[in-house]
Formats: sequence, structure tokens, C-alpha cells
Amino acid sequence: MSIESLKSDILVVGAGPAGLTAGIYAARAGKKVLILQGRSPSRLGIPYIIENYPGFPSIESLALLDLFREHAVSFGAAIRAGDAIAYALDGSPKYVTTKDAIIEAGAVILASGKPLPKERLLDGEDRLVGQGVSYCATCDGPLYRGATVAAVGHGEEALEDVRALQAMGCRVLWVPGKSGGAADTPEAKGLEGQDVAIRRDGKIKQIRGQAKVEAVVIESASGAETIPVAAVFIFREIPAGPLYERAGIALDAKQCVAVDREQKTNVPGVFAAGDITCGGQQVVTAAAEGCVAALQALIYLRS
Ligand SMILES: Cc1cc2nc3c(=O)[nH]c(=O)nc-3n(C[C@H](O)[C@H](O)[C@H](O)COP(=O)(O)OP(=O)(O)OC[C@H]3O[C@@H](n4cnc5c(N)ncnc54)[C@H](O)[C@@H]3O)c2cc1C
Repeated sequence: MSIESLKSDILVVGAGPAGLTAGIYAARAGKKVLILQGRSPSRLGIPYIIENYPGFPSIESLALLDLFREHAVSFGAAIRAGDAIAYALDGSPKYVTTKDAIIEAGAVILASGKPLPKERLLDGEDRLVGQGVSYCATCDGPLYRGATVAAVGHGEEALEDVRALQAMGCRVLWVPGKSGGAADTPEAKGLEGQDVAIRRDGKIKQIRGQAKVEAVVIESASGAETIPVAAVFIFREIPAGPLYERAGIALDAKQCVAVDREQKTNVPGVFAAGDITCGGQQVVTAAAEGCVAALQALIYLRS
């Protein structure tokens, strides 16, 4: 897969009410704006009737999201599918990586929605992100050619990425964690024995290692077993917290991004808005924070 190099004045991570409102303000001000839309849906994309967004006494959430999207695009913002999986935010310009693109931006607005709670992360996952814990087989797989790596996840994407890891020369220990998913398909069974082993009977309980991944602990009916691996590829919703923390962004105890009243994070030129800040957790507050973040990003770019 080829990696595209893209440039924008303002990169917005997230295409919910916060990110799209930021896009509306920044694009209307004449900036080149790219909005990343990850695979997890915006909470506004989960069907419900919203009765408390000003100006719309009753509207379907999906219809409102479409209006936000059309509004942002009408001012020239570009919306691109892809999860941000790595951030280099401390310098200027800033860089954000997806599976198929490296995006350079003058300022970044984080609007990726409600954070995945720490309890849903694997033990050791957040500590070892970037040190063997990866969410992208195509990006990091080549680093582990010839080594044994673990893969976690049971969706179609997990199957695709296990195949990619195998093709890159990794030995893959696939622990889907759930039966009835992609690991039980004839395609997955066809990979077994060809540098792919599937452990359907257990779950990864811990990722071990001091400075980098060294092993996983698999728990099954027959007990706990420690298996040495060089990396762990996790294929499920990407948790923002560990990635943001690794990029130097200060979080609070709930994995929410800490911001001031101007939606500034602790890193200059990086702003955050919406549910990711654990502010109002409403569409109107997400939109309002997106507006403030964009206005501040514009000031930052002028300074
Ligand atoms: C069932 C339900 C009912 C609700 N009812 C109401 C209501 O009546 N009134 C109200 O005001 N609010 C309501 N809410 C809350 C409201 O939907 C949210 O507060 C609002 O959608 C938050 O907006 P956001 O932009 O911060 O995040 P979201 O809308 O969650 O959008 C997050 C965006 O970030 C993207 N993303 C995530 N990770 C990445 C990544 N790594 N890279 C790139 N993109 C990424 C996602 O794909 C998505 O596009 C309800 C929510 C639910 C679930």
C-alpha cells in the first residue's frame, strides 16, 4: 500500500459535531482544512432523535450530522476516511499518520469523541504503545519481519491485517478473543500452519515488557500462559488516550484531554474539543468547543 503525503493548515481529528464545527469555522476563514473521520461512528451517527439542539426542535441525529458535514464541505473542508494512529505534535509543523497517509499541518484539533475507558484497554497496552503495541499492521509490521507477534481482534480487519503481517514475514499468534468472528472463517483456517497460529480458547490478559513488548499472558480454561512475542497488534477501536499521551498531550484520570477555556491543550498549536475533553457531552457543547478551538487555531497560525 502506498503512503500519501498530505498538507493542510489545520488538521481536525474526528468528524462529529466538534470536528465538523471546527472545520466550518477554519475553512470559512480561508484555511486549508482536512478532517479525519475514523472507523468508529460519531455518537451523532448512532440513530436517536435530538430535541435539544438549538434551532431544531426535533431532528434525527443522522440528519443533523449530514447537515454538519455538508456545511463543512460547502466552505471547502475536505473529509477523509482514516484513523489517526500516530502523532508528532511537539514541533512545527505537526504530523499525524493514518494507515495510508502522513499529514502535515500547522495546527491540529483533536475531536475524536468520548475516550475508550482505561478498563477496556489490555493491561500494559497504554504503557507500551509505540514500543511494540501497534494499531497498524501495514505501518509497523515490517519492523518485526522474522519475529513472532501477537494479533488481537475478531473482525474482518483483523483477518486482513493478520494476512498482511504473515505476508510481511512475521510469525503471527492470533488471539481473536471471541468465537464466531473472522478467525473462524475458512479464509482464516487456510492461514493456519503457514506462520499463523490461532488461539481460539483464550484471551490476552496482559502485555509484558519493561521498555518494549516482550511477552503476552494468555488466559484460558487451562490457566495462564506467558508467550514471548516482539509486538502486539490490536485491531479494534483505537483508544485515543495512549496515543495522545505518547504525543505529550496531558490527560486527566478519565483519559480525557485536559484543556483550558480556549480549548488549548498543554502542547502549543494543539487544541481539543467535544466529548474527548469530557466537557458538556452534548452536541451543542461539542459544536461550541469546536468553534472555540478553530478560532484559537486561527490565532495560533497568525502568531
Ligand atoms: C444514544 C445517544 C443519545 C444522545 N442524545 C443526545 C441528545 O439528546 N442531545 C445531545 O446534545 N447529545 C446527545 N448525545 C451526545 C452527543 O451525540 C455527543 O455529545 C456528540 O456527538 C459529541 O460530539 P464529538 O464531535 O465530540 O464526538 P463524536 O460525535 O463521537 O465524533 C467523534 C469522531 O471522531 C472520530 N474518531 C475517533 N477516533 C479517531 C481517530 N483515531 N482518528 C480519526 N477520527 C477518529 C470518529 O470517527 C467520529 O467521527 C447522545 C449520544 C448518544 C450515543
